[in-house]
Amino acid sequence: MSDAELVLRSTRVITPEGTRAASVAVAAGKITAVLPYDAEVPAGARLEDVGDHVVLPGLVDTHVHVNDPGRTEWEGFWTATRAAAAGGITTLVDMPLNSLPPTTTVDHLRTKKDVAADKAHIDVGFWGGALPDNVKDLRPLHEAGVFGFKAFLSPSGVDEFPHLDQDRLAQSLAEIASFGGLLIVHAEDPHHLEAAPQQGGPKYADFLASRPRDAEDTAIAQLIAQAKRLDARVHVLHLSSSDALPLVAAAKAEGVRLTVETCPHYLTLTAEEVPDGASEFKCCPPIRESANQDLLWQALADGTIDCVVTDHSPSTADLKTDDFATAWGGISGLQLSLAAVWTEARKRGHGLEDVVRWMSTRTSELVGLDQKGAIEAGRDADFAVLAPDETFTVDPAELQHRNRVTAYAGKTLYGVVKSTWLRGERIVADGEFTDPKGRLLTRTP
Ligand SMILES: [Zn+2]
Repeated sequence: MSDAELVLRSTRVITPEGTRAASVAVAAGKITAVLPYDAEVPAGARLEDVGDHVVLPGLVDTHVHVNDPGRTEWEGFWTATRAAAAGGITTLVDMPLNSLPPTTTVDHLRTKKDVAADKAHIDVGFWGGALPDNVKDLRPLHEAGVFGFKAFLSPSGVDEFPHLDQDRLAQSLAEIASFGGLLIVHAEDPHHLEAAPQQGGPKYADFLASRPRDAEDTAIAQLIAQAKRLDARVHVLHLSSSDALPLVAAAKAEGVRLTVETCPHYLTLTAEEVPDGASEFKCCPPIRESANQDLLWQALADGTIDCVVTDHSPSTADLKTDDFATAWGGISGLQLSLAAVWTEARKRGHGLEDVVRWMSTRTSELVGLDQKGAIEAGRDADFAVLAPDETFTVDPAELQHRNRVTAYAGKTLYGVVKSTWLRGERIVADGEFTDPKGRLLTRTP
């Protein structure tokens, strides 16, 4: 470690081999070695001893709606990446929709990159979008470095991003499979949604009934069938319905190339606690009952669900009306995702190692970011330093995202992020940020 510039020391470093006292040596933004705790610090290297605070790999959040450019009054790269950094996230992958333009052509991707370039406090990658009419754009986008393609099977909520019917899904998936790409899917079946009672109004129970589990289950079954037929790689976004878990488990056992994510709000909030009119809790698919939540946790524990991502999808406060049918659907969770998941995980007997696996290692694997997701030699020196037993009460005024609406207001959570490090540089500590040091990432060919 003679070339080390920095040594980060803690009694609790989470490595792929487990949690141990260690000194992590860093040079040129990379981890060069994970050494014994009391290893000698070389001359010229700076020692940062964080004591008993836990050092974990920076989280990788592969599901974030930054909305920039075009709907920057909803969010933006500056605010979203600060919120992420404050929450221990060091990489995010931006969703292709809600920005204008959406990321559906190489030109649009370039526009987004130009906007993001000098505002990114953490590393940022991009998903492309698969629309009914852009099959010809998919390969060029893949070659331009997007990490995969998002499609909706039911209306997306914005007119410029139409959904795919089953024929278009087959067409897009065949194209994506032809170059070994990944399709990520919002899986709710539009016919089941249409057939469900659409009451509208402020009652959460009515909203829940309008987005039934069988809409998810049916769409997931159809997606699995297509993936199997084409031997294509697919990923189910924001799984909420526990009824779909047996389907997922069976498909995985059969060798279908399928991965599944869920979100902090499905794991930590329940339908029973959502007050009527409180559309800060609205998302699609919806937050379901506590019995459903127990099964999602079981599925995380047994590997049926692979990973946890925020689906951070804010809007301006005025769009969060008390009518669940028309209010904007999306939960703002970037800054709180680690603490929210950790608070519930510890209650259920899981360790921080599990949280790291779900929110950093597996998400890095999903998008092929081999340089992220673990503390080991050769990877980027991205860290979150966490006081896991300290608590805080969520005060919306202390959040960094643009519109400080949150479903977590007033909750007391475990896990205070003391500092976040990107390629060996401390980018935020105790609420103080450096200038943006994030890079724009492209898929490893
Ligand atoms: Zn989303």
